[in-house]
Amino acid sequence: TTTPLVTDAEIEAGRQAWLLDRAHVFHSWSAQDQIKPMTVLRAEGSHIWDGEGNRLLDFSSQLVNTNIGHQHPKVVAAIQEQAAKLCTIAPQHVNDARSEAARLIAGITPGDLNHVFFTNGGADAVEHAIRMARLHTGRQKVLSAYRSYHGGTQLAVNVTGDPRRFPNDYSSEGVVHFMPAYPYRSYFGSTTEAEETERALRHLEDMIVLEGPQNIAALILETVPGTAGIYVPPAGYLQGVRELTRKYGIVYIADEVMAGFGRTGRWFAVEHWDVVPDLLTFAKGVNSGYVPLGGVAVSEAIFDTFRERVYPGGLTYSGHPLACAAAVATINAMRDDKMVENAARLGEEVIGPRLREIAARHPSVGEVRGLGCFWSVELVKDRATREPLAAYGGSSPAMNELVAELKAGGLMPFANFNRIHVVPPLNTSDADVLHGLEILDAALDAADRHTN
Ligand code: PLP
Repeated sequence: TTTPLVTDAEIEAGRQAWLLDRAHVFHSWSAQDQIKPMTVLRAEGSHIWDGEGNRLLDFSSQLVNTNIGHQHPKVVAAIQEQAAKLCTIAPQHVNDARSEAARLIAGITPGDLNHVFFTNGGADAVEHAIRMARLHTGRQKVLSAYRSYHGGTQLAVNVTGDPRRFPNDYSSEGVVHFMPAYPYRSYFGSTTEAEETERALRHLEDMIVLEGPQNIAALILETVPGTAGIYVPPAGYLQGVRELTRKYGIVYIADEVMAGFGRTGRWFAVEHWDVVPDLLTFAKGVNSGYVPLGGVAVSEAIFDTFRERVYPGGLTYSGHPLACAAAVATINAMRDDKMVENAARLGEEVIGPRLREIAARHPSVGEVRGLGCFWSVELVKDRATREPLAAYGGSSPAMNELVAELKAGGLMPFANFNRIHVVPPLNTSDADVLHGLEILDAALDAADRHTN
């Protein structure tokens, strides 16, 4: 790296920032006195520097959003240029950064998703996609999968299918959850992937019929559920979901906030299964989070609904020039540097094979699954019973120890319940990816000590 060493003055400034944070910052998803947040002094590429000046390999891409790594010079320059030209403009006006971002996004999204409604992030993209579906169909209900995450705002957290929903669950009218396909822990007693696909689809059709298709506006599904565990859908499942939604006139919303923009080794994960949804939500990777941005890619049929009818919704910062300039530069940089292709290669040739070797050596590894730069290592106390190393929605001393070992080894991990996710930036070097996997391999000894 060309980055100079962290100075004592920077470390001292970081200490002051930490004290001010503890005095005045209210952190999300946290009991304020139980957290010890890490200070980040700098970041570059696939590395960050913590408050003590230690250099850590970012195997989390933060919240799985910095797909092009930190401080990409072309994106930083594009933001600076846009800032010098036009920092902000109300969304009813045309601006060149937004026009170009929309053209690029319409060009890479599949099928006839040709129109882009911009939001500030993923949760509001989900809210607007559901509103569009309800107005388009004149129906109210929304089907969503358990073991999913769709955002922290009121409706988005209610369609979410993980424990983060529970404290907010009081206004979930019209939201109905179904069981997703999950071959490793099948809810349907399946023993093969083909059986899982068939049974999960039969369950879904039963749910649609029992809920009344005439009442169901939308089905929202993460193409590869991310935060909840990186569940790669078994062959035929998503095609089946597409067929069922078409059969019953339900709007299919593919939530690609996490899986989109190259994460899985394709621009959008639906491409792996040749599925074209009616609406596709995105955020995170659209500009690697350099400036907040999200949106909904909209099909011609749904766009037609709002040609002569007002769409009742909007945001002050919809299509913000700085965010859109960052998106244009990000998409172009991803193309120039073939980052999507690189993510696919890393998954097939580096991460997948190496993780399978690691899994074979450690009794605490129940399953590894993923594609591209999107992998989950699911940890168990016992491989035979598949008892998780931490409960779904909980933590455990074993997981805490493992995370501490990973950090001590020089890694910034993404850990969730009984899983470690391997989700580095798509342009991480092979050497850094292998180094990170070595750290994981060594740290898993700590988890092994907690197996039966
Ligand atoms: N949908 C998915 C699939 C996500 O992973 C997330 C965030 O992790 C969201 C929606 C919410 O996005 P945001 O946090 O930008 O509101």
